[in-house]
Amino acid sequence: MATPSHPNGSHASPQQRRHASAPDSSRDVVRTKVVATIGPACRSEEAIRSLVEAGVDVFRLNMAHGSMQEHQESLDRIRRISESLARPIGVLADLAGPKIRLGELPGGAVECVEGADVKFIRGSESHAVDEFTTTYAPLIDELSVGDSVMLTDGTISLVVEEKNAAWVRCRVVQGGTVRSRQGVNLPGVKLSVAAMSAADWQHAEWAASTGVDFVSLSFVRSAVEVKLLKELLRTRGSVARVVAKIEKREAIDNLESIVDAADAVMVARGDLGVETDVASMPMVQKRIIRACQRYQKPVIVATQMLDSMQHARRPTRAEATDVANAILDGADACMLSGETAIGEHPILVVKMMRRIANETEKQYLADRWHYLEGHFHAAPGSAGVPVQEFLPAPEFLVEGLHPITQAVVDGASRIAGELDAKLFVVASKTGVTAIARSKRRGAVPTVGLSDDPAALRQMALYWGVTPLAAVATPDAAAILEHVTAWGLREGRLERGDRILLVAGSGFGTGGHNMALVHEV
Ligand code: PGA
Ligand code: MN
Repeated sequence: MATPSHPNGSHASPQQRRHASAPDSSRDVVRTKVVATIGPACRSEEAIRSLVEAGVDVFRLNMAHGSMQEHQESLDRIRRISESLARPIGVLADLAGPKIRLGELPGGAVECVEGADVKFIRGSESHAVDEFTTTYAPLIDELSVGDSVMLTDGTISLVVEEKNAAWVRCRVVQGGTVRSRQGVNLPGVKLSVAAMSAADWQHAEWAASTGVDFVSLSFVRSAVEVKLLKELLRTRGSVARVVAKIEKREAIDNLESIVDAADAVMVARGDLGVETDVASMPMVQKRIIRACQRYQKPVIVATQMLDSMQHARRPTRAEATDVANAILDGADACMLSGETAIGEHPILVVKMMRRIANETEKQYLADRWHYLEGHFHAAPGSAGVPVQEFLPAPEFLVEGLHPITQAVVDGASRIAGELDAKLFVVASKTGVTAIARSKRRGAVPTVGLSDDPAALRQMALYWGVTPLAAVATPDAAAILEHVTAWGLREGRLERGDRILLVAGSGFGTGGHNMALVHEV
């Protein structure tokens, strides 16, 4: 039988390879991370605790809703629960960004009838049912005849037919009921609006002062906007990682530079599906995730993943498939929005997402020859035939990571697969080594060790990485002892299992220069 080509030649027999690819179901670990949005349905201390126990890794505080006091309360609760369960949990503060909203409508709601005319007027008060105001003063100047305007999440669409200095007249193409303060989407219209509103600045300052782990920016259009937020946080002493939400046409046009600038990315399908053609969105999702793989940036797939479970106790077939496909695309995390924030079954939906992830990963990992982790994959039993995987190999170094560390992680990942190791341990002070390992998408579960609580909370987002608080002495023997004790206690290790450790030997190379194989 022909053996598959291997960058460095291959040593294991086909039997050994097949054995190595069989997932060990007795030690199931869900690699895909769950991000859950906090809202009225799950804000209580008790509800948050149940969500953590059900498997939430990162909580999103949606700054577009709720008061600062509520967000601070939620954050305090999450931190307390995380502490009491000794489980690092990440918190993401999601800035609303330049979202345009309608002003108050007469009577609170207005029916837009297909074929009828409506006007956008200046100022903040409208008196007629066919006149709308918005939160964005220059709107009338920046709209042109032929532009489309979407209301109510894209269900109502208007097209601009006429404009003058005082108003813009639109025809209703698709009608429906619109309510006060609902969002206004302007697909493809280039707006001069600032990347961050006064409220966004205030929220970012709060996030920095209170030690939030991730800050996301909505409606990002260019890399400069991402860098602006990074700078703001950095100058306030925050180590929060910036998540760029991709939800505008312009962001797709500038995808590479935005992904490069960001610490992490969100495929924000709620607005993306309105700002761009929803029919093209599935492939845009794959494009974004592929870019994140090449640049080694963690990526979250968001919105409507298990939407029907806001009310139902089970997802639709399409929703279950959507979660699975996002994982196959290469998502690090899947997000729940309304499902946990205002839904009827927050706990059930988290458990369901984890179950789908677990089943998906088992097959996904079994279908690959994971000892090759990262560069070349072939199906077991089909020697020499590479699996057509959508995910490209990483091309760029992880930002802040020494090239030596990157190379050692690469090589150690292959060793881990080849030896069928049970754990891949990275000493990762800031968490960036954990990102490099995570982006290998290896089957061997990763433990990210750090003595920095903020780094551990950030690792909660990274695919396949279990954050673990490190011992004070960072020498290899102490680390191995610590991890072994933990692994045996948690049922993640047995005597005779192999562990891969990537760490620094402390001889001043600047990187993690050591990969060590240990037998428990
Ligand atoms: P949002 O972002 O929920 O803040 O709108 C996510 C999305 O648009 O998908
Ligand atoms: Mn959005």
